[in-house]
Amino acid sequence: MTVMADAESSLHRARRIIESREQRTTDKRCKLLAVMLAEQKPLSAYELTDKYNREYGEHIIATSVYRILDWLVNASVAHRLNALNKYVACQQEVCIQHGSISLLVICKHCEKVSEKHISDSLRQAIDEHVSQSKFSHVSQHIEMTGECEKCQNQIHQRP
Ligand SMILES: [Zn+2]
Ligand SMILES: [Zn+2]
Repeated sequence: MTVMADAESSLHRARRIIESREQRTTDKRCKLLAVMLAEQKPLSAYELTDKYNREYGEHIIATSVYRILDWLVNASVAHRLNALNKYVACQQEVCIQHGSISLLVICKHCEKVSEKHISDSLRQAIDEHVSQSKFSHVSQHIEMTGECEKCQNQIHQRP
């Protein structure tokens, strides 16, 4: 598959994901999510702005990218990683289901992200804690940092 075909299918996928959230969407939302889907690693808003402009030959400004990112994060099709201050496309596609919480494990060396939904029982325990603590508007993901398999191997191979 060529790079061009990859970009095309990312855009296709992005449009399908976003339209599952909102029938009438904007091109820019789809294009930005496509950049995130193609990249598969967390990127800062500035890195995303750069890649967007290079990919589509446009001159979008970072302020617009921030606004689009806000929408994507609120729609749960992307996540903002607080540990890195970067953004990543949702890997589960089911985060959009109401009330789901995902666990994102981030490699502290290469920033690879692994996302998984937490079990119902864990979800219940978290909900109980949140309601007892009387917090509202609690974020829909949990972040943990660690070392991915590839980085573990590389570290062990060092003399
Ligand atoms: Zn997700
Ligand atoms: Zn790693």
